Amino acid sequence: MASIHIVAKGETLAAIARQKMGSSRAAATLADYNALRTRRLAVGSRIFIPSAADLRPPRVVAEAPAMAPRRVSARAGAVAPPPAPPAGLHGVLGAFGDIYDFIRNDGTIDPRWESRHITRVTLPFAIPLDWDTAKSVTGIRCHTRLAPLFTDVFQRIVAAGLKSTVKTYGGCYQFRAKRNGSKPSTHSWGIAIDFNVKTNAMGTAGDMDPRLVELMEGMGFVWGGRWSGRGRDPMHFQYCSAY
Ligand SMILES: [Zn+2]
Repeated sequence: MASIHIVAKGETLAAIARQKMGSSRAAATLADYNALRTRRLAVGSRIFIPSAADLRPPRVVAEAPAMAPRRVSARAGAVAPPPAPPAGLHGVLGAFGDIYDFIRNDGTIDPRWESRHITRVTLPFAIPLDWDTAKSVTGIRCHTRLAPLFTDVFQRIVAAGLKSTVKTYGGCYQFRAKRNGSKPSTHSWGIAIDFNVKTNAMGTAGDMDPRLVELMEGMGFVWGGRWSGRGRDPMHFQYCSAY
C-alpha cells in the first residue's frame, strides 16, 4: 500500500525520492507511479510513495476467480471471462483502458469514455442508495469487461444468503476529476464498488460483514478494509491490487 506525501514549498521530485525511497534516481519511478506528466510539483499536492510490494511486477494469478456457469444471452454471444485482477496503474490502464486519453483539460471526462467502457448491470435485488435511502438502485454502472463478474457477484450474494449484509449502495462507476496530480480513483474505471458507506468511513475499522468480504475476495476483489492507517477504506472493494 502506497503512502501519501504532501508536497512542501520548494520540494522537487528528486528530493522526495531521496527522502522517501533512498535515492534521487527513484524520481523517475515516482513520476511513473503517479502518472505525472510534468516534474513541476504544486505545493500541497499529493504524491503516492509506493511500497516495495507496490513496485513488484504483476503477480500471475494462479487460479482465476471461481465463476458459476452463466446463461449466455443470444444477443451478447459467448461471455468472455473477466481479466485477472491487474496490479498497479499500468496494469489497470492495460486491462481496462487508458483513461488519460479521455480526461479533458478542464478535468472532466470525455463522454466517449463511458460509451466505450461503461455498461449497466441489472441487480437481482434492489439496494438502498447510500445518500438517499428512500431510493433504491436496481442496476449499477461498471466496466464492460467486468459486467459478467458483477452480475455473478450479486447472484452469489443472494445464493449465500448475504443480501442483508449489503445495506446500502455507495457507487461503482464514478469519474472523479484528478486533483492535485493524484491518480484517478479506481471508480473512474468502474472496477470498484462501495457498500454500507455510513458505517464504514475511511480510516475506521467499519462493520463490513466478514462473510461478504470473503465472498468478494474469493472473486478477485481487493478489500480496502485491509489497508492500514488513514488510507483504510472498509466500504471499498476494487478489482485490482497495488493501486
Ligand atoms: Zn470506493
